[in-house]
Amino acid sequence: MIAPEMLISEFETKTGHTGLLIDGQWVASASGETFPALDPGTGEVIAEVARAERSDVDAAVAAARRAFAEERWLRLTGQERGEVLWRAADLMRAQADRLAELESRNMGIPVSQARTMVLEASAQFRYYAGWADKIHGRTIDLGPGGRRVQGYTLREPVGVAALIVPWNAPLISAAKKLAPALAAGCSCVLKPAKETPLTALWLGQILQEAGVPDGVVNVVTGFGETIGAALAEHPGVDTVSFTGSTEVGRSIVLAGTANMKKLSLELGGKSPVIVMPDADLSKAIPGVAGAVFWNTGQVCAAGTRLFVHEAVFDEVVQGVAEIGRSLKVGYGMDPGVDLGPLISQKQLDRVTAYVEGGLDAGGRVVSGGSRIGDRGFFFEPTVVVDVDQSMALMREEIFGPVLGVMQFNDVETAIELANDTPYGLASSVWTRDGAAGHSIARRLRAGRVGINIHRAGGVYMPAGGYRQSGWGRENGPEGLESYLETKSVVAELGS
Ligand code: NAD
Repeated sequence: MIAPEMLISEFETKTGHTGLLIDGQWVASASGETFPALDPGTGEVIAEVARAERSDVDAAVAAARRAFAEERWLRLTGQERGEVLWRAADLMRAQADRLAELESRNMGIPVSQARTMVLEASAQFRYYAGWADKIHGRTIDLGPGGRRVQGYTLREPVGVAALIVPWNAPLISAAKKLAPALAAGCSCVLKPAKETPLTALWLGQILQEAGVPDGVVNVVTGFGETIGAALAEHPGVDTVSFTGSTEVGRSIVLAGTANMKKLSLELGGKSPVIVMPDADLSKAIPGVAGAVFWNTGQVCAAGTRLFVHEAVFDEVVQGVAEIGRSLKVGYGMDPGVDLGPLISQKQLDRVTAYVEGGLDAGGRVVSGGSRIGDRGFFFEPTVVVDVDQSMALMREEIFGPVLGVMQFNDVETAIELANDTPYGLASSVWTRDGAAGHSIARRLRAGRVGINIHRAGGVYMPAGGYRQSGWGRENGPEGLESYLETKSVVAELGS
């Protein structure tokens, strides 16, 4: 079990399990039930977590509604709200080591990378702190000469936002939603994944300490099929911002129809990477390896389908496989580890099944392909060739360190293969030819394209998906839109 000083609330240290944050108080779930949070590096229980049910969701949504109706947050000026968000960012940075340790122990990622994630999460609050006093409408002259009828728009918060996040980057995912939602003036109910609830609770505590009024941020922990579903259909919720699988995203769309919730969906991906014959392979090979293996492949934007020109195919495949073999896979808290475990037994079984299915269908493993050890959920970085686009390994999201590689001999084929997917989240192209890079970028049907880089841009660049990878965008000014309404006001000014 995690040490008391790592625990997240007064409540927790007294009872031995974490609480729910509702209306500024840490409370037990109505049922008193808990569930275990595991360390995926050992499979052991590290904390007992309050298991919320529907009635707890009702209480959290009611608290958020009250806070919104009473304008507890909105009565602060935009600048004051920005100061609170900035303070939260500072608190996160000040507690980065402990937050990183908790994130590493609960999701497995090496602790130094977890620390980078904490800083990225903190950057979300800094960035949107700056927006809090810059959310304005427009004026529109309507009458003849603009004198008799005057229009203007107001940007108003949507109301209560349910924020549902996955386990693969828990703190960043939560920050990507909380920071813009709060900058926009919404009240929130955050639901972390059941696998990784701990840093979300800590973030709730930090926001309280930073000065977010009671009820403006509520955190409920529990199972997606009960409390996630309850939030998705709740009549007291005005907007749902969801990050997770396309399958669950679909159920959230259906659940939201009763009160026509606004929805923002950051869903799955099967992102293509194209290596052109003129690419600088000294950069492309490590770039491609990083695109697929980082965070043990548990990244929505991971570059999992690699298309390499025939002239450089062997060199690229061997280079990426060599990097895969050289990465140190191990317990996230141990020094020098590059990759941690997969999040759970379920995920380990899933990754194994995709690799076995790919081999049964004719694929050939160049490196990796197997579980490591029998404790925790470790899997080798894996490169598979002799694959085609009909295989599940090449069509479906695996969410593990598994790369499928195909060859092409002309750029048209590469683009066609890259776009042959129901998803459209991310992509990259590697080439020394600047014009070709930009031209291919325009033709890839994905929300993000990297040229000689796979993922970059952080909070500054809008991120989201085409097609079944989602609706809406996070990051940048676009990230505010999910949490804002636009009101048109038109005034007859007389003659
Ligand atoms: P998931 O869809 O199983 O769960 C995501 C969240 O939804 C969790 O909090 C879960 O408890 C909750 N949930 C589960 N069932 C629900 C239901 N019926 N109603 C409401 N909520 C429910 O996803 P996951 O396994 O936690 O995460 C992996 C997935 O997330 C991958 O598909 C990945 O691509 C996606 N993801 C996308 C992005 C992005 O930005 N596009 C980022 C990270 C992860």
